[in-house]
This record gives sequence, structure tokens and C-alpha cells, in this order.
Amino acid sequence: MNLIQKHSLKSLNTLAIDSMADYFVDAVTIDDVRNALSYAKQHDLAVKVLGGGSNVVMADRISGLVLKYTASQYKLLSETNEAVTIEVDAGFEWHAFVLFCLNKGWFGLENLSYIPGTVGAAPVQNIGAYGVEVKDVIQRVHGVYLETGETFTLDADDCDFSYRESIFKQALNNQTLITSVEFKLSKQANVQVGYAPLNSMASEQGMPTPLQLSQWVVEVRQSKLPEPSKLPNAGSFFKNPVVSLEKFETIQQANPDIPNYPQSNSVKLPAGWLIDQLGLKGKSFGSVSVHDKQALVLVNHGGTCVDVEAAANEIKRQVKGEYGIELEQEPRVFS
Ligand SMILES: Cc1cc2nc3c(=O)[nH]c(=O)nc-3n(C[C@H](O)[C@H](O)[C@H](O)COP(=O)(O)OP(=O)(O)OC[C@H]3O[C@@H](n4cnc5c(N)ncnc54)[C@H](O)[C@@H]3O)c2cc1C
Repeated sequence: MNLIQKHSLKSLNTLAIDSMADYFVDAVTIDDVRNALSYAKQHDLAVKVLGGGSNVVMADRISGLVLKYTASQYKLLSETNEAVTIEVDAGFEWHAFVLFCLNKGWFGLENLSYIPGTVGAAPVQNIGAYGVEVKDVIQRVHGVYLETGETFTLDADDCDFSYRESIFKQALNNQTLITSVEFKLSKQANVQVGYAPLNSMASEQGMPTPLQLSQWVVEVRQSKLPEPSKLPNAGSFFKNPVVSLEKFETIQQANPDIPNYPQSNSVKLPAGWLIDQLGLKGKSFGSVSVHDKQALVLVNHGGTCVDVEAAANEIKRQVKGEYGIELEQEPRVFS
């Protein structure tokens, strides 16, 4: 086990916050994980699990032991003419995994192309993009409990997946390290081009192959979202709020052109649109700014967790004041 004391996490989070972990372990094997958990227990250290650092706001100092599991192999569990089931280690980089599957002719992940982070974090917030959520292809999640080191396996039905949510952010919050994820992927292409930019590309160029669709998604994402290596950010900073029909009607009366996505008994609204309407696109709050092309993204220009949270709170305050909507932050404070 490679244990480091006083380890900088600046290059390990996409907001590039200059954070320092008291203890850090890069665990390559399950034995490393177990050794790290025993060490933490012996020394009374809280364990905090880190993936690619693309959905966290790092505190200046992380007390306890930061554990990053980097195994990145896969196992083919079953194969028929129609589908494969594979088990993939948590440390596999997400987009590399998507491309790997496309090259093998295993489909279902194309819309989730180019999302930063790791396979192990994908179930945590049930990553989603362009009309697809990862829960649609997850079969099982394997991991260890941080407290006991015991292993567990959860069927997808028991993971409580919903919009950017799962049991790993709720009942099991900060209690597990996911070690691998099982996916069932199709050998038949079934491209999903329901979302606006993909739909218009399909109208102009014809239906894409899964590989083309992945390339379109990368293209669209690169045109809209800043690269964290150039402009440090954590992707969408707020979830899209879901409001009651009554509340929506009130908001719509004052804002007739508000985009909206009806659900069964509620309406989902684009948080980026709400922020944009307040004239906040491109606006700076000290060392943190709202991205000038995408109002849902906060860009960090050397600020700390406190600076990022102050900017987020100011945006939340203004949205609440104007629309009566409480925005919920997507990336979690890592402390
Ligand atoms: C430019 C950009 C675009 C993005 N676009 C999208 C998008 O389209 N859709 C979307 O859903 N998200 C998006 N995100 C958010 C982010 O990429 C995802 O949430 C991703 O899954 C986070 O992975 P990570 O490995 O970086 O996790 P981290 O940020 O390291 O961790 C996130 C949370 O998961 C926990 N965690 C991480 N690994 C494990 C593990 N192995 N076991 C248990 N818990 C773990 C951490 O403790 C933390 O609470 C975007 C982010 C950026 C920067």
C-alpha cells in the first residue's frame, strides 16, 4: 500500500482547488483497499473515497484518509448473439471505457460519451446525458463497506437510482467504496437521438452509427462545455429543478418562453436558463465566474472551496428571489 502524508489534491480535482489531504492512498488492488481501511481504523482516520475529482468541491484541508481505487480491468461475464454482460473495475476512466465498448461493438453508452470521471463514480450520481442515464445499462454494483471492509453486491433495482441520485448518495452516503460495476450492453445498435442537438444533426446527416453518435456527442459537448484542463470546472453546478404544475404555471405566466420538460405530475426546468435570465452568464464573483457560454457551469480561477460555495450561494439566492425556486448543488463538498 502506497500511503502518502500531506498530499496535494490540486491536480486530482477538475475545479483545481488547492486542497491538501492529511493522508492519501492510491489503491491498485482490493488488498491495498483493505490495508488502507485497516490503517485508517487503527489510527482513527475517517476514509473519503475519491474518483476522478470531477464532481466535488474540495475543502482546503481534507482530514483523514483519501482513498482512490485505480484498478481498471474488465471481465466478460456472459455473451449471447444479442448482448454482453461485463464487470468493469471502478478505476477505469469513463470515456475510455465508452470508447472501448464501442470498438468491441457493445452499445448503449454512446450518449454518455465524454463525461469526465471514473466507472466507479458513475452509479453514485447515476450519470446522465442526452436522454440516457447509466442506470439503464447497470446490472449490479460491487464494493466494500468502509467501516468493516466487508464486500457487498447490489442489484440495480436495489440502488434506488433516480435523476442524479442513488443509494450511494442517500442511505449509503460516504459508507462504501464501489470496486466494480456490471453492465449489460447490446450488440444491436439502437441509437437515441431524441435530444435537440443530436436530433437536428440526424435530420441533416441521417441516422448515425453508435460510433458516429458518440463523436457527435463529443463535438456538441466540446462546443458547449469548457475543458477543465483549460478552465477548471465541475460540469453542471446545479441540478435542473423539478416543480409542481401549479408552481410552473405561475412561473410561466411571468416567463411565457420558459423551456420546460413535463414529468408525470411535475415539470423539470433548465437551471441554466433560469441563471441566464438573471443576466449572470459570464459574471464573476471574485475568483469564480459563470461560464460565458453555459450558465450552468461555474469556472474557478484560483478560488477555494469557500469562494466556489459563496458564488454558488449567491446564484441560488438570486434564483430563489426571482423564481421562488431552491436550486440544488450537484457537485458535493469534499471535506
Ligand atoms: C466538464 C464536465 C462535464 C460533466 N458532464 C456531466 C454529465 O453530462 N452528466 C453527469 O451526470 N455528470 C457530469 N459531470 C459530473 C461528473 O463527471 C460525474 O459525476 C462523474 O461520474 C464523477 O466521476 P469522478 O470519478 O470524477 O467522481 P468524483 O468527483 O471523484 O466523486 C464524486 C462522488 O462520488 C464518490 N465516489 C467516487 N468514486 C467512488 C467509488 N469508487 N466508490 C464510491 N464512491 C465514489 C465520491 O466520494 C464523491 O462523493 C461533468 C463534470 C465535468 C467536469
